[in-house]
Amino acid sequence: MKRDPDIGITEALARDRTSRISALRYDLAFTVPSERTKPLSGREAIRFAIAATTEPLILDYAPDRAGFLRRVEANGVEVAVRQVNGHIIVPGSVLRDGENTLSIDFNAGDASLNRGDDFLYTIFVPARAHLAFPCFDQPDLKARWSLFLDVPDGWLALANGAELEHDSRDGRTRVRFAGTEPIATYLFAFAAGKFSVERAERDGRTFRMFHRETDAAKVARNRDAIFDLHAGALKWLEAYTGIRYPFGKFDFFAVPAFQFGGMEHPGAIFYNAPGLLLDESATQEQLLGRASVIAHETSHMWFGDLVTMRWFDDVWMKEVFANYMAAKIVNPAFPSVNHELRFLTDYYPSAYAVDRTAGTNEIRQPLANLNDAGTLYGAIIYQKAPIVMRQLETLMGSDAFRDGLRQYLARYAFGNATWPDLIRMLDDRTPEDLAAFSRVWVEERGRPIIGTELKLSQGRIERLVLTQRDPYENRGLVWNQRIQVAVGGRDVRLVPVQLNAPRVDVRAARGLPAQFVLANGGGLAYGEVHLDPTSSKWLLSNLPSVGDELTRASAWVTLWDAVLTHDVKPDAFVTLAARALPVERNELTVARVLSYVRDAYWRYSAPDVRARLAPAIEPVLRTGLASARTSTLKSVWFSALRDMAQTPATLEWLTRVWRQQEAVPGLTLSETDYIRLAEELAVRDAGGASAILDQQYARTKNPDRKAQFAFVRPALSANEADRDAWFAALADVANRRHEPWVLEGLRYLHHPLRAGSSVKYIEPSLLLLREIQRTGDIFFPKRWMDATLGGHQSAAAAAIVRTFVDRLPPDYPLPLRRVILSAADDLFRAAGAAQP
Ligand SMILES: [Zn+2]
Repeated sequence: MKRDPDIGITEALARDRTSRISALRYDLAFTVPSERTKPLSGREAIRFAIAATTEPLILDYAPDRAGFLRRVEANGVEVAVRQVNGHIIVPGSVLRDGENTLSIDFNAGDASLNRGDDFLYTIFVPARAHLAFPCFDQPDLKARWSLFLDVPDGWLALANGAELEHDSRDGRTRVRFAGTEPIATYLFAFAAGKFSVERAERDGRTFRMFHRETDAAKVARNRDAIFDLHAGALKWLEAYTGIRYPFGKFDFFAVPAFQFGGMEHPGAIFYNAPGLLLDESATQEQLLGRASVIAHETSHMWFGDLVTMRWFDDVWMKEVFANYMAAKIVNPAFPSVNHELRFLTDYYPSAYAVDRTAGTNEIRQPLANLNDAGTLYGAIIYQKAPIVMRQLETLMGSDAFRDGLRQYLARYAFGNATWPDLIRMLDDRTPEDLAAFSRVWVEERGRPIIGTELKLSQGRIERLVLTQRDPYENRGLVWNQRIQVAVGGRDVRLVPVQLNAPRVDVRAARGLPAQFVLANGGGLAYGEVHLDPTSSKWLLSNLPSVGDELTRASAWVTLWDAVLTHDVKPDAFVTLAARALPVERNELTVARVLSYVRDAYWRYSAPDVRARLAPAIEPVLRTGLASARTSTLKSVWFSALRDMAQTPATLEWLTRVWRQQEAVPGLTLSETDYIRLAEELAVRDAGGASAILDQQYARTKNPDRKAQFAFVRPALSANEADRDAWFAALADVANRRHEPWVLEGLRYLHHPLRAGSSVKYIEPSLLLLREIQRTGDIFFPKRWMDATLGGHQSAAAAAIVRTFVDRLPPDYPLPLRRVILSAADDLFRAAGAAQP
């Protein structure tokens, strides 16, 4: 007798099933009760072919309650099955050679159904379908799916397939959906509830947007742009890939407070509504972000949905192509934006925020069990991997790169592939050694430490050497990269360099006039870039005068690294920023610098230093707000002011703005903006904070935003006992179902102004992390830790984390240990603690 399967889906189980099962299809029916507390009931028929066997067949099914499996039939005959560790074991003796049908009656577990009072939506990524219904929950057993939903009257529904029938009677609505193309379990999806629908035609295709927004003006203001962006992305992708959109109809659902930016279900993309339906106060970053998330999810229709990774160790592949294609797709729609600069500000700071830490990981990580797949997601695959992909495309040339991708998509269409499958196809098209490139950039973690050795003679370069070294011992890696070194002063020249050795003599720079040299001045070099003393001194005095905006932005990214390595003092950085910001015209750079200033202010300045800085920095922000020429830029300044305000004068002004006694000229605030403002005033214990929160609740019209506000409110209370009770309630998974709500509350609970009273929540939050990973969605563990540690800078807080990590048992999962270390990195640095 073979031993029983482990909890979760192991790679061994997956490989065994892939070798045995074919021609898989699911016919699923769910009845959704009107009472949220009652479970959905379901029936399904699973059809597949299998060779004659005596081995048992293992299905995955792990609802959150016992007794949910009601009846199993194999080929029309009821069978007795065992349920073990979240699986159903079907005896081999009831299966026959060839086609088989398993018919199952069950109740659906709630954990992946995201149920509210009047709507629900599924999220089955990475392997959470089997929390709801029995299936083979792995990415390479693709199936055709048909779906029937029986929902309360007045509800609408969407799913991967087109709606075939819609029938309302006896207080119920029944919807039947067409069968799908072959798709993986993590991409199967449906949503049902009280929705509004917008429709549009573009290029002969019908697009539908389901949503719950009650602000009709907001919907009207955004709808055309949303449909245009989808149509534009589809057109671009069809041309680039040479493959027509593979999934027939195209619907999407703007989910209020969605856990992710978007989720790429074929035919039924889910988005975070605030990311699509923008406020009038949207910034340029938010406008670009919307275009990017639409292009990202649309790219997934090819990269991930049509061709899927065989196993989740390659989940980064679908994410990197989605992000990398999105960057290409978005550019033409924003001709006034400097896209090289945007690539820099969008990807490098976020990638560095993890890659500089002791908790960083490889892009491609091993994965033994899909239960742990959620821990693979993060900035390394979303932000570092596109940087690596750009290097790869640069190395091999864009035509060869595109042709390789076309070949890959065509060969594996509706199937699965691995990174080695793709890299072999690309390698055939270039003399470069892509396997060696992949080993350093993809299979290993960390970033090189890049240095500059500069010798000047009478203002000209006599000798320039770039160095790189591996931050970790015993590896000696060299990160082969094509970069552009900025050389100059106010005027900058970009010198191309192939940085493919520990030391590279940049002969092309000899004789050039230079007041500074910046290795990543062209926005390409990836690493911990150290300035030579001459360049550092010059940039700290003269950065605002550098004419090239990309080099300026790169210099800011480099100087922030220097703050974190203690080469530049935080207050020197803030002082330089206060001088530079009033003359900086690029909105993306202003936003990036202000984001660093927030960190320098809240995280790296002690409370007494902050009190000294506030009267100096707030007028800069007020002036920036007043003099900004566009509403997008005004919004950037306003949010910085709102987040950093401390002086009584500014708080009084913000309170008048919140009371609508005073307008911000040129900026229209939305309901979301007023909620945020009320929360920021409350956490500062501004005058009448409690009354402000009461009034904000009464003022809020949209029911979803109102529910979220009510949930978060106790975390803002001036009464510590209320905050304790709010935090204690998070121990119950039922109170963690709305992850964005939880994170918003945690950020205020741990606000720097409340850090003294919130240190006590750190250890219990660390202790909960394993359960958070087990019960939450993919991004939740890291965000949980970020929200918990983000407001802290004290040695006491750092010591709690350090002690916790030091005492972890040897079998504690490495990915979670890394989550803690990367989330704690800023805290450790701010507290002056040594790196682990
Ligand atoms: Zn994605």
